[in-house]
Amino acid sequence: MMTRQQIARRICSGSGLIDAHTHLGADAALFYNGDFPYAISAEDHGVRMTQSGIAYAVCFPFLYTGYFQMAAFRRGQFRRDPRGVSAFPYAFENQRLCREIYEAFPEFAGRLLPSAFFDPARRPREQAAGIRELSTRYPLFGLKTATSYLHSQIGALLAEGACLLDLAAELDIPVTIHSAVLPGDPWANVFEILKVVKARPDVRFAIAHTCRFDRRALDTAAGLANCFVDVAAFHIHCALAQQNHAAVAAKSDRFPADYRHHAAAMQRIAEAYPATLLWGSDTPAHLWKSRFRNDQGQEVWMDLPCGPATEVEELRKLPPAIQRRIGHDNTVRFLFGEKGGDDEN
Ligand SMILES: [Zn+2]
Repeated sequence: MMTRQQIARRICSGSGLIDAHTHLGADAALFYNGDFPYAISAEDHGVRMTQSGIAYAVCFPFLYTGYFQMAAFRRGQFRRDPRGVSAFPYAFENQRLCREIYEAFPEFAGRLLPSAFFDPARRPREQAAGIRELSTRYPLFGLKTATSYLHSQIGALLAEGACLLDLAAELDIPVTIHSAVLPGDPWANVFEILKVVKARPDVRFAIAHTCRFDRRALDTAAGLANCFVDVAAFHIHCALAQQNHAAVAAKSDRFPADYRHHAAAMQRIAEAYPATLLWGSDTPAHLWKSRFRNDQGQEVWMDLPCGPATEVEELRKLPPAIQRRIGHDNTVRFLFGEKGGDDEN
């Protein structure tokens, strides 16, 4: 098996397009809810990457972990399943991700870059020990969390969950954090995330989903040397901006761009924050179709469509120098630090 350093050197020495935000695996809770997407395999990724010219993809598991009782989880209650497959959050899912890439489909090793999911608040010490052990068996390229859907406070990373950031620093891998601006989502609030990023200059972070277009958050992120921002699922976020949906920043706080035009909006943001932005598609969550109950108890069918090649086709409309910066150069600094793949450790 190639080592992490060998893979890093190969990525850094070329100029191939890197997708900084994708998922790999399956999510039984989404499946039984009737939501989309709910799965993608390494083979599926390979087909899409070949078709779209993406050279490398950072892959996270999906959100649901067998640590939780699924029926309760689907009702928004978080109960450990004592007979579940994961003794701590994502134990099974992170291992399955590595096995899929390095054992079942080794032809994708070095192109699909696994990044382990974590929950900052539940059994963090066991999670850190599990991920450390996993990293001795397989090359790992990052950590990822999406606290909105776990109802864990992101601030736990400065308390009981600090051991997970200590691990990221020890392994020299970056941390991607799902962000929110929705008033009803205190768990992944983008300004709470920024407090964590500020407090841990020894760790590289990516705030996902363009900070939900919040200009104040983007400005703050760009001022922090250890902070990157990924543009994952940009297309459906443009649709949300056009709807003035509360999932993106209100117009008064929103980065000024014409969100009717995906590529033009992305170019403006990339020009404003040249060293900060990372390109990521969120494949297969570039689209989102979900049935849920809103705060008023009404059932809502949220349908945010996006074609399978839209994210990459829109990227290709940007000037080549910007494509190279957000699709490779910034991403290499995010993944491997300023030293890139030259580190012999
Ligand atoms: Zn995602």
